[in-house]
Amino acid sequence: MSEFECPCCKRVMIDFRLVDMLEILRKKIGDKPIIVNSGYRCVEYNQKVGGVPESYHLYGMAADVRVPGVAPAELLAYAEEVGFLGLGLYDTFCHLDIRYNYTRWEG
Ligand SMILES: [Zn+2]
Ligand SMILES: [Zn+2]
Repeated sequence: MSEFECPCCKRVMIDFRLVDMLEILRKKIGDKPIIVNSGYRCVEYNQKVGGVPESYHLYGMAADVRVPGVAPAELLAYAEEVGFLGLGLYDTFCHLDIRYNYTRWEG
């Protein structure tokens, strides 16, 4: 749970649907640990890291995750199967969020 905290102020907000889906994802990839690089962000911290103003991180609906030994592109494919609709592919991690319209991008 502390993995989801905002690094600057330690506040946390999590949509439990996000946690449920990460749990399903974890089972799907063979119970490997999912490392959360970034979960909830307050407005100030989101600006600091250059997040988009309407980032789903602000609502506890997004997580930037990686799994040691699993390539981000592979992880993203699993996440899509699980039903994540916001899918961002980056060099070292995936951005996953539970928005309601399908959006996929590469960062
Ligand atoms: Zn903060
Ligand atoms: Zn993100």
